[in-house]
Amino acid sequence: MAENLYIDTRGNVTQPVPFTQAVIDGLAQGGGLYVPQNVPTLSLEQICDLAKLPYAQRAASIYRLFDVDMPAELVESLMASAYGDQWDTDQIAPITSLDENTHILELWHGPTSAFKDMALQCLPRFFSASAQLLRDRGQLDHEFMILVATSGDTGKAALEGFKDVEGVSIGVMYPDGGVSDIQYKQMATQKGGNVQVWAVRGNFDDCQTGAKNTFNDQAFAQKLADQQGVALSSANSINWGRLLPQVVYYISAYAQMVADGKIEAGRKIDVCVPTGNFGNILAAWYAKQIGTPIDMLLCASNTNRVLTDFINTGTYDISDRPFVLTPSPSMDILVSSNLERQLFELTGRNPQAISAWMKDLREQKRFQVDKETFAQVRSTFRSDSVGDQECLSTIKQVFDQYGYLLDPHTAVAYKVAQNLRDENPVLIASTAHWAKFGNNVYRALHNIAAKDPLPEQVAALSGCQLNSLIAQETGASAVPAGLAELDDLDVRFTQVIDGTTECIEDAVCAFLQSLK
Ligand SMILES: *Cc1c(COP(=O)(O)O)cnc(C)c1O
Repeated sequence: MAENLYIDTRGNVTQPVPFTQAVIDGLAQGGGLYVPQNVPTLSLEQICDLAKLPYAQRAASIYRLFDVDMPAELVESLMASAYGDQWDTDQIAPITSLDENTHILELWHGPTSAFKDMALQCLPRFFSASAQLLRDRGQLDHEFMILVATSGDTGKAALEGFKDVEGVSIGVMYPDGGVSDIQYKQMATQKGGNVQVWAVRGNFDDCQTGAKNTFNDQAFAQKLADQQGVALSSANSINWGRLLPQVVYYISAYAQMVADGKIEAGRKIDVCVPTGNFGNILAAWYAKQIGTPIDMLLCASNTNRVLTDFINTGTYDISDRPFVLTPSPSMDILVSSNLERQLFELTGRNPQAISAWMKDLREQKRFQVDKETFAQVRSTFRSDSVGDQECLSTIKQVFDQYGYLLDPHTAVAYKVAQNLRDENPVLIASTAHWAKFGNNVYRALHNIAAKDPLPEQVAALSGCQLNSLIAQETGASAVPAGLAELDDLDVRFTQVIDGTTECIEDAVCAFLQSLK
């Protein structure tokens, strides 16, 4: 088997590692991100042929294409269980077409109703199997704790993916008060014997920076190894094992659209993605590299429009940029980690350039790419941002026009697609079920301004009760079972911690101790 090894974006990894090791490490040595040495390609015919297979086998084919260092039968069986009957449709990621040129790729039919499930039903299984393979090769002698910083959706999806997985525990940090009632309950009621959840005083960037600093603390790593026999790893979208499953659904969606007669084989489409950490849109870029006929990638931002400004100017600048809470909290991000991978690719894989820009970002809170790189960015990406009010009126407009309910993240993407599209059909990534964000969907449908209070009786409802009300009023699709039952579950986690490295490390130690 010709192995596809992984290098890193900052040129610090001297010995490229196989897929299993990249998945286990999460972040590469020296702070860079893993990328595959070779990006394979498929012909149009091979892409279209994928439509003949069930989704799990489409995913297995793409993994084979990337030469993952695992037996083919193992990959098949892991995929079969990752994309099994925990999904509410065997299409896994069905496409709803609003009109003949506007197609919604629904990525939220998994167990937590968020698109993160697409990757996080897959990653834990490959993580566990990778650890086993490395143990068998005598290259591993410890257990793992997954540490996750989440702006809401990742946390629950990671908890659900890793719960009760052998040899792995998981701790999740979310910004205190920065997630919806539903997201909060999904995490605080999480079941499983190997899970922990912390609210962190601060915003998502504080959580993410705290997690990164903890990962980079060598002394702490040594302490965990000596005292607990545990190493930290990440399930954040910086893990290549999160990205590869996302590449799958873009290729699969194209094949499906051809099979369903929605486009002719070879017809170029634009893809519009509501973007936060840049993982999802990066996956679409890899799908394009592999050969999927994708023309432009439309990057949709909310008021935290650092990516929009970057794509429009070539300067990434957070030096004087306030962090704002919006109706689309999973996109409330200032530092988009996966942009590093994208720039690595767009510079023709230049680790010196990446290292310098990341240093500028750390030290001056801004960096500017060179002319050639900026031209590369402009050749594939367009970007626009949508304010809170526009986001909500888009939900109402689309519901009035098509009888279809968008969540606020998807609404941002829909609006940006309207603003930027040309004659190409557009595939819009829909990243959450509306019922995860019922309060703002209610505001949208009742013409209540984004930050205005809900009417008293409505404000008194729990997230679950509000969702039933919206479902009744709109006759929209039923609320997924996993969301409808949340009020009946016991809250297990109530701890609030500071976001400093020290506090996070103390919390991690206390949790690991409690598992003994
Ligand atoms: C995570 C998330 C996003 C952002 O995706 P990235 O891959 O981080 O860019 C958008 N919408 C929802 C609902 C999400 O959960």
